[in-house]
Amino acid sequence: MIYDVIIVGSGPAGLAAAIYAQRARLSALVLEKEYMSGGQVVNTYEVDNYPGLPGIGGFELGMKFREHAEKLGAQFVNIEVRHIALEDEGRIKVVYTDGEEYRARTLILAMGASYRHLGVPGEKELTGMGVSYCATCDGAFFKGRKVAVVGGGDVAVEDALFLARGCERVYLIHRRDELRAAGILQEQLKKCENVEFLWDTEVVSIPGEDHVECVKIRNKKDGTERVLDIDGVFIAVGTIPNTGIVTKLLHLDDNGCIVASEDGVTEIPGIFAAGDLRTKQLRQIVTAVADGANVITSVQTYLNTL
Ligand code: NAP
Repeated sequence: MIYDVIIVGSGPAGLAAAIYAQRARLSALVLEKEYMSGGQVVNTYEVDNYPGLPGIGGFELGMKFREHAEKLGAQFVNIEVRHIALEDEGRIKVVYTDGEEYRARTLILAMGASYRHLGVPGEKELTGMGVSYCATCDGAFFKGRKVAVVGGGDVAVEDALFLARGCERVYLIHRRDELRAAGILQEQLKKCENVEFLWDTEVVSIPGEDHVECVKIRNKKDGTERVLDIDGVFIAVGTIPNTGIVTKLLHLDDNGCIVASEDGVTEIPGIFAAGDLRTKQLRQIVTAVADGANVITSVQTYLNTL
């Protein structure tokens, strides 16, 4: 079978594209690594800036997107995409997975982004043993204990807010002297009495044998080092786009994002990019969803030219 469109990824961008594809009566297939694997949204405790749904849980919102797509008849296959190639002078896009090959006239890349690592000693060795990239997933293990959060963006501040509800003390370690996070989140965090801000500070190492025992930090201005007695380190230093499978196919910017504007059009006719993996100003659920909708219009425009 040759589909009108194959969507790779099932985060907000991929699911919005699936919804719009069903409504456009395109034959569409969504390929996802695991059930709901694609979305950072499912690991978000609370989403407070999706219009009309203030305070909704991230998992609940992700499930609503998925149920909407399923209700309209979207087809999903849980499989990891390994490689993409072109056939018939580019008119057919072939998606190679661990087992099957899938063919379509158009392809939407919506694989999102993954957690960036700090790259300090102890981080890799102690991941899952006190080092975590997801406060919503692992925060409950640290109830009544001391933890550190690294980063200064929305995720770091949201994680610190979440952890401050149950932990004895939360250190927010940030490499500069001002946060990047939205003002409203900063205001909330500054009100938390059990949160201590460590400005201009970087993590040197995360010592521990089979669990995190402490974190070694350095003040970037005066070079002084300090050891924080903590049980967990939550790393929230941004994301890197999941564009590994298209590095040889498409032009990527310096951050590894697919170069594409709001219409999702890439340099290859019939291949589109939507969501956090494309070059864009603002990476939010609402902009990912908008990408998913826009890109289906681009898909239809392209299909009409064939
Ligand atoms: P982000 O906005 O890129 O912030 C990453 C933070 O980590 C920055 O403060 C950065 O420092 C710091 N950082 C980066 N590399 C580092 C390193 N090697 N060592 C130490 N610190 C490092 O990433 P994010 O917070 O994961 O958010 C990702 C995107 O999702 C953003 O566009 C964000 O707005 C969006 N998001 C939005 C919401 C919301 O609206 N509620 C919630 C979650 C995520 P500098 O500040 O010095 O660069």
